[in-house]
Amino acid sequence: MIHINENFLKLKASYLFSDIAKRVAAYQAENPDKTIIKLGIGDVTEPLPQACLEAFHKAIDEMGNRDTFRGYGPEQGYPFLREAIAQHDFQNRGADVSPDEIFVSDGSKCDSGNFQEIFADDIRIAIPDPVYPVYVDTNVMAGRTGQNIDERYQNLVYLEATKENNYSPALPTEPVDLIYLCYPNNPIGVTLNKEQLNAWVDYAKENKAIILYDAAYVSFIRDEATPHSIYEIEGARDVAVEFRSFSKTAGFTGTRCAFTVIPKELKAWDKAGNEHSIHALWNRRHSTKFNGVSYPIQRAAAAVYSPEGQLETKQLTDFYLENAKLIRDAMEKLGYSCIGGDNAPYIWIHTGTDSWEFFDKLLQKAGVVCTPGSGFGRCGEGYVRISAFNSRENVVTALERITESLS
Ligand SMILES: *Cc1c(COP(=O)(O)O)cnc(C)c1O
Repeated sequence: MIHINENFLKLKASYLFSDIAKRVAAYQAENPDKTIIKLGIGDVTEPLPQACLEAFHKAIDEMGNRDTFRGYGPEQGYPFLREAIAQHDFQNRGADVSPDEIFVSDGSKCDSGNFQEIFADDIRIAIPDPVYPVYVDTNVMAGRTGQNIDERYQNLVYLEATKENNYSPALPTEPVDLIYLCYPNNPIGVTLNKEQLNAWVDYAKENKAIILYDAAYVSFIRDEATPHSIYEIEGARDVAVEFRSFSKTAGFTGTRCAFTVIPKELKAWDKAGNEHSIHALWNRRHSTKFNGVSYPIQRAAAAVYSPEGQLETKQLTDFYLENAKLIRDAMEKLGYSCIGGDNAPYIWIHTGTDSWEFFDKLLQKAGVVCTPGSGFGRCGEGYVRISAFNSRENVVTALERITESLS
């Protein structure tokens, strides 16, 4: 008899966004005339930048010509893209990253979910609360946790971001081996300053731990003093992996391109105490299980780094940040305390009431969909997340309706 991986049974039965979809569908069925505005899910709405689109078209034409046709490319990505990334995203900001330390992929969700595969089953893992659910669920599937009891998996160390600690989790009080951090943060929209990030790097060094640093929202940072990459911190090359994605930077959520940075210095140990290169292990894993991102998509991604691409992606993220400011201002005017929205496309709103109750109120009174904070972890209870990813028209209408129904 074939048996399943029973770790999957530990996963919480219903997925946050399907719960939301069910409630929205029920409301729509009862109110067929009402137009619902979705400020819940973290998906972009605006089309691809022109520079990306042109490079994409051109590369597709190359695929239709015998002389310029390409089959399998390098699993790690084409040099033209890896070189552009290393220069623009890292070297230009004083972060020492070379092209061969970059692994191009079809998404940071996959990379941040898959990366745990190369570590032992019994490592100790620290995960923020609230959190992007991928980090938790992939470790549950891999069997690194116990059961979920009271919204907490046994064997995980939770890094709580609460009002009391100004939404910046304290360092773990017990030793951990793998630490997931995400800045600018999804769902709470905050960033870390240099000193705070430095403390995490020092902790990792002292504990021979590794930080998985998810910087999917880096292009929303407007405060120049905020670190864009963890490699701007001294010593980070010894302890950190960084995930980046074109999804939110350039509207690639449906196009799919991302990358992971692994410095050559980064090491972990076998049970006998011998050192092993994480770069080599991931290269082995990546080239065994992945066959590269399609050529036209890598060309479209590389166009982000052209002068036109830089201008257009800045305009794109500026647009969402203006939405974010409108949302935050309107919610604050209604008396809610908010964080985020200035260097991130998410506003984290303290409702002081049950997250799902507030979600229902916003849906039923205003026809607006947000995300209940409790869906991101126990510390999200009493909060909702509103996303800036929508058209200006929809954001303005949603805020008018919210203001009318909640004041
Ligand atoms: C959107 C998002 C990503 C990007 O995922 P892709 O698979 O590259 O689209 C990564 N991390 C977080 C926290 C995100 O919200």
